[in-house]
Amino acid sequence: MSEIPTVQHWVNGAPAAGTSTRTAPVFNPARGVAEKNVLMASTADVDTVVAAAKAALPAWRDMSIAKRQNIMFNFRELLHKRTPELAAILTNEHGKVLSDAAGEIARGLEVVEYACSMPTLMKGDYSENVSTGVDVYSLKQPVGVVGIISPFNFPAMVPLWFFPLAIAAGNTVVLKPSEKDPSAANFMAQMLKDAGLPDGVFNVVHGDKEAVDALLVNPDVGSISFVGSTPIAKYIYETASAHGKRVQALGGAKNHMLVLPDADLDLAADAAVNAGFGSAGERCMAISVILAVDAVADELIAKISERMATLKTGDGTRGCDMGPLITEVHRDKVSGYIDIAAADGATVVVDGRGIEVDGDADGFWLGPTLLDRVPLSSAAYTDEIFGPVLSIVRVEGYEQGLDIINSSQYGNGTAIFTNDGGAARRFQNEVTVGMIGINVPIPVPVAYHSFGGWKNSAFGDAKAYGPAGIAFFTREKAVTSRWLDPSHGGLNLGFPQNH
Ligand code: NAD
Repeated sequence: MSEIPTVQHWVNGAPAAGTSTRTAPVFNPARGVAEKNVLMASTADVDTVVAAAKAALPAWRDMSIAKRQNIMFNFRELLHKRTPELAAILTNEHGKVLSDAAGEIARGLEVVEYACSMPTLMKGDYSENVSTGVDVYSLKQPVGVVGIISPFNFPAMVPLWFFPLAIAAGNTVVLKPSEKDPSAANFMAQMLKDAGLPDGVFNVVHGDKEAVDALLVNPDVGSISFVGSTPIAKYIYETASAHGKRVQALGGAKNHMLVLPDADLDLAADAAVNAGFGSAGERCMAISVILAVDAVADELIAKISERMATLKTGDGTRGCDMGPLITEVHRDKVSGYIDIAAADGATVVVDGRGIEVDGDADGFWLGPTLLDRVPLSSAAYTDEIFGPVLSIVRVEGYEQGLDIINSSQYGNGTAIFTNDGGAARRFQNEVTVGMIGINVPIPVPVAYHSFGGWKNSAFGDAKAYGPAGIAFFTREKAVTSRWLDPSHGGLNLGFPQNH
């Protein structure tokens, strides 16, 4: 039997073995075969990586902003040019189809382009003569060593939400990617090196809870950016905050799409299928529940089913629409929700179990599934399924739909489909969700706005990227200065007032 490769850490600009010999298998989910292993760092390994990032910090934060910007421009060019190679890595380890993998990289590239404007984004303010001869100004400085912990579902895009801004702002980075698809992080690390990034500024440490916990408590780590499931996000937020760090912790989701009777039902059906089954539903902004107003529910379901019949599930390298799920365990869990929904009284309109696929029989397959009349009490409704299962919940009208969305523990994304501007305007005002689409199913904000949910979809108040990302990765100083003027002086113990 031939040896399979082991994905190593990336420290100080080169692959590194660390000291821990613990590994985890990395599967190709379309084949159901472990094609690699990945190292699982020990606490000591993480401490070594953090020390490397700390050592690289002084020179990097003091490098001119123009030089840092130039490296970002170089990285942007490389990421653009090497998208097909990176997309192939994503498809191999995650399973998403190649076009979707390229789309993920394109969304990450947007953040790199935004980071290229760092000289403008980091500008401070200046107020002259706030009191006679006294000026006040503010500076933005990097936080220091920043930790990033990312989920399996966007192995390139989610790290790219954070590290370009962190780096361009003068921080040094330790990224802990998902152990399920770790190679994209190393590929991007090599590209950053090729772009001219000094060694030690961007580091990757692979691992699981042990590595994460080591990052959360290391006193040299100034901030934690986390994206993953809600229970872990909450744990990360609480633990890292208790250790004095700045934290942004984005969690899970259950995104509803409300379809009003005056909506364009063809547009709504296209949107539901794209947003429900793209990336096999393994997107935090996937639509997983359609709230269909009764009057149009049957027609909408017919249109969705018609479109689902045309979808091809299979190996992401073969021009299919939808790939496999990430692991066998996850596939079985998602498939189990179909049983749960049926047992709870839902109708299985389209059943993805046992579907014929264009791929290896051992792949982690589950076809697109549509459930109707899913009870709100069913775990198939209340849990985040994170797979290709779209649930229909029928509602009487706008009020009931809004009420259901606002009662959810999650508040990541939502969408309304309608031709009534007044209803859409009310919706954006009344819904308790962080990102809203109006006739747009996956309202992921562009890089110069910020991304983040409400309620149990995000802990802390710091959204990702955009202006919130700049605020997160910088610390402000306010300076009050007076250059000596002989006319000023004397003793005065009162609180200073401006004259
Ligand atoms: P996950 O929470 O299992 O893992 C995320 C990261 O945390 C990984 O790096 C993992 O190694 C680490 N981790 C896992 N268990 C841990 C533990 N007990 N202690 C410390 N660290 C631990 O999430 P996942 O399955 O990789 O990703 C899917 C989840 O991420 C879904 O819930 C999805 O909604 C969510 N997600 C949210 C967003 C968002 O922007 N809100 C974006 C993408 C994904």
